[in-house]
Amino acid sequence: MKTGIISLFTNETERSTGVENELKKKLTARGYEVVEGFHEDAELLICIGGDGAFLRTMHRCGIPETPIVGINTGHLGFFQEVWPEDFDVFLEDYELGNYTIQKLGTVMGIATTADGKKDTHIGLNELAVTGSKSYSIHLDLSIGGKPIEKFSGDGILVATSAGSTAYNYSLGGSIVDPRLNALQVTPLAPMNTTAFRSFTSSIMLPSDLTLGIVPEESDKVIYIHNDGIETAYSNLKEIEVRTSEKCVNLIRFSDYDFWSKVKDKFL
Ligand code: NAP
Ligand code: MN
Repeated sequence: MKTGIISLFTNETERSTGVENELKKKLTARGYEVVEGFHEDAELLICIGGDGAFLRTMHRCGIPETPIVGINTGHLGFFQEVWPEDFDVFLEDYELGNYTIQKLGTVMGIATTADGKKDTHIGLNELAVTGSKSYSIHLDLSIGGKPIEKFSGDGILVATSAGSTAYNYSLGGSIVDPRLNALQVTPLAPMNTTAFRSFTSSIMLPSDLTLGIVPEESDKVIYIHNDGIETAYSNLKEIEVRTSEKCVNLIRFSDYDFWSKVKDKFL
C-alpha cells in the first residue's frame, strides 16, 4: 500500500534525534508526509536507534504488519538495516522496489492465573519465565500436551529464530537462521543433582507444537519477560507458549546477509 505517509520513531539519543531531523527534511523534500509515531495508513515505518529501540517500537505499535526499516544508530543492529549515511541510497532502492521483505515470526505466551484470568504476551526475540534471583523455581514442562520434565533452576527462555542471537545466545543457546520458523527452549541455570534433573542444553521445537509450563508452587512470584518487558505474577497457574500468528515485515536490501551480521558481531 503506497500512501505517501511515513511514520518515524526514534530512541531519543542525541545521535538519533540528529538523524531523525535530517531524515525528516529529506523525506518531506521528496513529497512524503512524515508523522511522528504510528499512523494506520503509513506505507512504511522507520525506526532510528539500535535493536532495543526496534523492539520497543514494535511493541508500542502492537506488532503491526506495516513494513518497517531500521536506521542503525546503535551498536551492530540485527534488526537495523541501514546506516544513516546510506539513507539516500535506501530511499532510491525503496522507491524502485529494490528490496525484499523478511518475515519474522513471534512467540506468544498465554498466562492463566488461579482466578481464571488470561493474559497474552508476545515476543519478537523471546519470552522468558523466571523466579526472583534469590530462589529457584520448579516448572512442570510439557510438549504437545505430553509431560517432558520438571525443570528446576532460574527459569526457561523460549527464543524465536531472530531472537536467538540475543539473550538466548548469552545463555549458551544456538544461533538459528531466521528462515527457520522454530522455537528454541533454553534453560537458565538448570539444577542437576540427585534431587533435581533438567535438560542442560536447548531444545528446538517446530512451530506447531505448544510448550506447557506449570509452576509447581503457586505461592512464589513468577516473572514473564517478553523482549525486556517484565510482568510479575503471584498466582500463576500455567503458561502456554507457542508461535504466534503475528509477523514483523522487515525491509531488507540486496546485500543483507544474516550470517555476515553474525560473523561481524560475534567473531
Ligand atoms: P539491553 O539490555 O539494553 O540490550 C541487550 C543487548 O541485546 C543490546 O546490545 C541489544 O542491541 C542486543 N539485542 C537485542 N535484540 C537482539 C537480537 N535479536 N540479536 C542480537 N542482539 C540483540 O536491552 P534492549 O536493548 O532493550 O533489548 C532487549 C533484549 O535484551 C531482550 O529481548 C533480550 O534478548 C536481551 N537481554 C539480554 C541479556 C543477556 O544477554 N544477558 C539479558 C537481558 C536481556 P542494541 O545495543 O542495538 O540495542
Ligand atoms: Mn539497548
